[in-house]
Amino acid sequence: MIVGVLALQGDFREHIAATVSCGHSALEVRTAADLAKVDALVVPGGESTTIIHLAELFDLYAPIKSRIAEGLPVYGSCAGMILLADRIVDGKDGQKTFGGIDMTVRRNAFGRQVDSFESDLKFNGQSLHAVFIRAPWVEEVGKEVQVLSEVAGHAVAVRQGNLLATSFHPELTADMAVHTYFFDEICKGR
Ligand code: GLN
Repeated sequence: MIVGVLALQGDFREHIAATVSCGHSALEVRTAADLAKVDALVVPGGESTTIIHLAELFDLYAPIKSRIAEGLPVYGSCAGMILLADRIVDGKDGQKTFGGIDMTVRRNAFGRQVDSFESDLKFNGQSLHAVFIRAPWVEEVGKEVQVLSEVAGHAVAVRQGNLLATSFHPELTADMAVHTYFFDEICKGR
């Protein structure tokens, strides 16, 4: 399996390191030709407005949307969660997403950069220490969406089919539970 990591902006290097430490090959994705080679895609944390702008500039927006529609497994952390949401609140005017998960995500929901925090939570029933940096939360989900983690009554990890999203950044900690879940439960058999 070749795992693509969208490498336009944000902490894609940390996701590449996490992917390799889980025993998979990682490919930096910057063009449609790169995207065509991958069996799964990770959308990193960073700044969602910048990532979507660069995706359009690099002619990756439509190809990523169509791979998602075809069932490509995609995991998005933080800005990546925003980019997988069908609906966003507090986006920049006209801010687009790739979409795919039937949910409404509030950008910067936990506050500004100074309100970033760490928290112990359950991910799919397992204890996990999670890092939140100017993080979004999930305000509302459709019936196909499974909530895998919550903090203070807000969903912060969700799955719909082959799409996984977390408000937090498991690529910044040593615990590979979220990446392992993505590779073993969602990408398996590819
Ligand atoms: N607040 C950022 C955004 O809107 C996301 C922050 C992050 O990825 N750490 O894109």
